[in-house]
Amino acid sequence: MAGTGRENSRLADPGFLRELLGRHGFHFSKAMGQNFLINPSVCPRMAAACGAEDCAGVLEIGPGVGVLTWELAQVASKVVAVELDSRLFPLLKETLADCPNAEVVQGDVLKMDLAALIEEKLGGGPVCVCANLPYYITSPVVMGLLESGLPLKSLTVLVQKEAAQRLCAPPGTRACGAVSVSVQYHCQPELLFQVGRGSFMPPPKVDSAVLHMGMRPHPPVQVPDKAFLFRVARAAFSQRRKTALNALSAGLGLGKGPVSQALLAAGAQPNARAEQLTLEQFAALSRALWDGGARETF
Ligand code: SAM
Repeated sequence: MAGTGRENSRLADPGFLRELLGRHGFHFSKAMGQNFLINPSVCPRMAAACGAEDCAGVLEIGPGVGVLTWELAQVASKVVAVELDSRLFPLLKETLADCPNAEVVQGDVLKMDLAALIEEKLGGGPVCVCANLPYYITSPVVMGLLESGLPLKSLTVLVQKEAAQRLCAPPGTRACGAVSVSVQYHCQPELLFQVGRGSFMPPPKVDSAVLHMGMRPHPPVQVPDKAFLFRVARAAFSQRRKTALNALSAGLGLGKGPVSQALLAAGAQPNARAEQLTLEQFAALSRALWDGGARETF
């Protein structure tokens, strides 16, 4: 472990950050979702909450100038951080000079072979993911990781507040969406704390929140095919103003008769809306549709 004292990194100090960025001639890229943390309490709290002590190492996505990376390096045996923007590498070399257990890898997290990365650099896992995610890829990153089958113990992510609320909402509640079905199937989400827009440089237009998602050792419901469950959820939520019956029938290309029967078999009314269905009902619905012949077309 690097570092001996528990002094916070100076990287969250706006004056220090401005000087660092100016000296390297660095300009923020909006397209890459670059809003760097300048609230000194956020990264230590994320590092403490991510459960690094139970993992072979931590995988960070988008280290920026390394403000969270530095904190993670104080609590983890190894940190591997994937950064898309190669302009940040000279800065990271400087800011992480006292963290020999932190390694930065250049690449796009959405295109990278993360299984190979975990095998090669983190001893095959288990791994905790901890990140201040770029807003523009929150959903694909979170969903991709949850459904990846990678040896993950947990995800602790800073995301837009609305995205955090959606990810945390259990199916059957107003704020839920198709992602909520996948989240609840794979993990137990918990909203840890909120982070105001003033905690970032430059400040984004929205507030954020930190979410912890502990991976479940076993799924809470049994389904014949997990990918089919998520397809059913996506179809049901694809037209939120319509009933689940109409959305499912259109989305899955099935007749209303069999879909209506499957909804009844799952204990749901055919005029129910997707956000009224619980995870157990989605599981029962996907079982009924699968057994009723949808497996042939899937
Ligand atoms: N962790 C830093 C912090 O908290 O200050 C930076 C967070 S900033 C919201 C997101 C970071 O992700 C940026 O450094 C950006 O360059 C990087 N990034 C954007 N898209 C990425 C991608 N597809 N793969 C890896 N990193 C990406």
